[in-house]
Amino acid sequence: MPHSDDTSFPVSETSRIRRYHERGSHERQAVYAVLDASPICHVGYVIEDQPYVTPTLHWRLGDRIFWHGSSASRFLKQTREHKVCLTVTLIDGFVLARSAFNHSVNYRSAMVFGVAHQLTDPAEKEASLKAMTEDFYPGRWDKLRPITAQEIKATAVLYMDIAEASVKVRSGPPGDQAEADFPVWAGLVPLQTILSDPRVDGDPDHPLPVLSARLGAKT
Ligand SMILES: Cc1cc2nc3c(=O)[nH]c(=O)nc-3n(C[C@H](O)[C@H](O)[C@H](O)COP(=O)(O)OP(=O)(O)OC[C@H]3O[C@@H](n4cnc5c(N)ncnc54)[C@H](O)[C@@H]3O)c2cc1C
Repeated sequence: MPHSDDTSFPVSETSRIRRYHERGSHERQAVYAVLDASPICHVGYVIEDQPYVTPTLHWRLGDRIFWHGSSASRFLKQTREHKVCLTVTLIDGFVLARSAFNHSVNYRSAMVFGVAHQLTDPAEKEASLKAMTEDFYPGRWDKLRPITAQEIKATAVLYMDIAEASVKVRSGPPGDQAEADFPVWAGLVPLQTILSDPRVDGDPDHPLPVLSARLGAKT
């Protein structure tokens, strides 16, 4: 059976980190930090023995992770009430070592396990879509043309409560100091995702939107 404490998620054979376990953790705050650092996740699931991994947007309230899409989406229809594995990956840099074998990347990644469920109550769906919009663009929901009942009906919102979760993080320079004398450039090439200046569509006189740090905005 999985075991846990308040500061960490439960660990079972599913989420026990074996490879480079010193890079990993099951701590809640570490998991939240990686999930919240990117709006994009990938949801893995199996339909009739065929695995699929679908990229989508996600947002989080406590231990509950949400994603959404068209009510007609096969991905959304087929994952509800099924086990899923959701991942978030950020690349922080390319690590160029003195041998091909020792090259690496600096990264932060999270793997989350649980069962997908679908919100059915229109009021709950609207509240969660507002939460997503506010998560990405704080203060924007109330400025927008109100959502319609038809738009809520056309949108499926799924969620999973985190049953188990792990993170792995690699940081720092190449780990090949034993061959530091080998005559080739070695080091770290940092990689960042940042927002560019907004490009207006229509009336340029409205104030610029607020963009959350999750989208790459400077804080
Ligand atoms: C950007 C990036 C590039 C990578 N490149 C490579 C590569 O080229 N080759 C390679 O072998 N590995 C690479 N990794 C690491 C890879 O994700 C796996 O951790 C590694 O392959 C070990 O897999 P495993 O199934 O043997 O791990 P195990 O330790 O057996 O996995 C057991 C459990 O540990 C946890 N876990 C494992 N990996 C991760 C992870 N990345 N993030 C969060 N939890 C995890 C999960 O809960 C998993 O079920 C990369 C990771 C990232 C994020």
